[in-house]
Amino acid sequence: MSAGPGRPAAASDWVGRARTVMPGGVSSPVRAFDAVGMTPLFAGRGEGARIFDDAGCGYLDYVLSWGPLILGHAAPPVVEAVTRAARDGMSFGACHTREVELAERLVAWVPGVEMVRFVNSGTEATMSAVRLARAATGRDLILKFQGCYHGHADGFLVVAGSGVATLSLPDSPGVPGAVSALTLTVPYNDLEAVDAILAEHGSRLAAVIVEPVAGNAGLIPPRAGFLEGLRARCDRTGALLIFDEVMTGFRVARGGAQERYGVVPDLTTLGKVVGAGLPVAAYAGPRDLMQRVAPEGTVYQAGTLSGNPLGMAAGLAQLAVLERTDPFAELERRTSTLVEGILAAARSRGIPACGTAVGSMWGVYFTEGPVFDFEGARGADTEFFARYYRACFERGLFFAPSAFEAGFVSAAHTDADIAATVAAVGDALDAALDVAG
Ligand code: PLP
Repeated sequence: MSAGPGRPAAASDWVGRARTVMPGGVSSPVRAFDAVGMTPLFAGRGEGARIFDDAGCGYLDYVLSWGPLILGHAAPPVVEAVTRAARDGMSFGACHTREVELAERLVAWVPGVEMVRFVNSGTEATMSAVRLARAATGRDLILKFQGCYHGHADGFLVVAGSGVATLSLPDSPGVPGAVSALTLTVPYNDLEAVDAILAEHGSRLAAVIVEPVAGNAGLIPPRAGFLEGLRARCDRTGALLIFDEVMTGFRVARGGAQERYGVVPDLTTLGKVVGAGLPVAAYAGPRDLMQRVAPEGTVYQAGTLSGNPLGMAAGLAQLAVLERTDPFAELERRTSTLVEGILAAARSRGIPACGTAVGSMWGVYFTEGPVFDFEGARGADTEFFARYYRACFERGLFFAPSAFEAGFVSAAHTDADIAATVAAVGDALDAALDVAG
């Protein structure tokens, strides 16, 4: 499997053409592979656990479209369901039965969900959940955790000020300071910092939004008591607790992190697995809150393509397979084997490393660790990561091209795939050390 920085001409032609007509040549920034000093992978097709580039080189895929493909690429039941749906019409702009069926399934599976509104992206879901929280509480501030990503809506693109920031700076030009000032940030897993915010701003706080397992700064699990502590503090102050389960939903357990950790939020956002690779997401919660959404209530939110029949068919088909096969324990076992294998390979070579698996999400940092927050994650060796990354890619492994992204395992990854990955990682670490030496 040849690949890497010197990829075949076919791919590099496309890189040039893409860069001419699309900013950075991509539709989403991290696809540019900038952080690892490479040119982008141009995907040709995917099958099971493998993605093939446009020159036909295959890679074992641990990105899986950034999470949605829990059954692997082109899972036959999903492809068949989407094909059937497409024959019936690509979009109706009208109610249809599949969206009701998918909503019913979410209500049955996710503990905090009694009603659902479908949208087209995780960004829309979190943005809309915050609007609903503000409407329900009559308050304006939100609290998020440093290193958590909730999509690219203005209010979420906020860096931390020093310590417990109260007036944050926008993370991107184009975000008005007045908007970012409504977002407070504190370190992940830090209840004392939350308390300090509450002491000063509790009566203005509409919502605390959190990735219940942080997957956008590598992988950071919640420390014991963290999610329970957030629940108790929200109950005390009247802020709503929003679990952003766009990544963890149907990944860390069938009913998401709220099932796994036994903490039920006020509002839940879902995406990725729920659409099986099509643009589907949702925000959801108890009836009394969701009934505030238009047309039942006054909180406006709409979408031309929301509840799209192809997306609903894909999600239903994928969730039906999950229900029938119940792969969660097996997925977690394989994902843990992968992480333990990578950590053992690193440590046996004297490379500091730590990491973990939660369900079929995983992450490894090149630092002693343990990592509890974004600050800790940023302490990892990103230069070594880039060398390691390139060496892995050359050995046919497709990992997320950033030290700050979770990886995923699908039901299509076999024990043999995991073993081959661990062996290739060992070789790649040797190569990365050689370059360093
Ligand atoms: N929330 C979380 C936890 C995510 O991981 C992401 C995307 O990765 C989003 C929200 C945004 O979703 P989307 O990219 O579909 O807008």
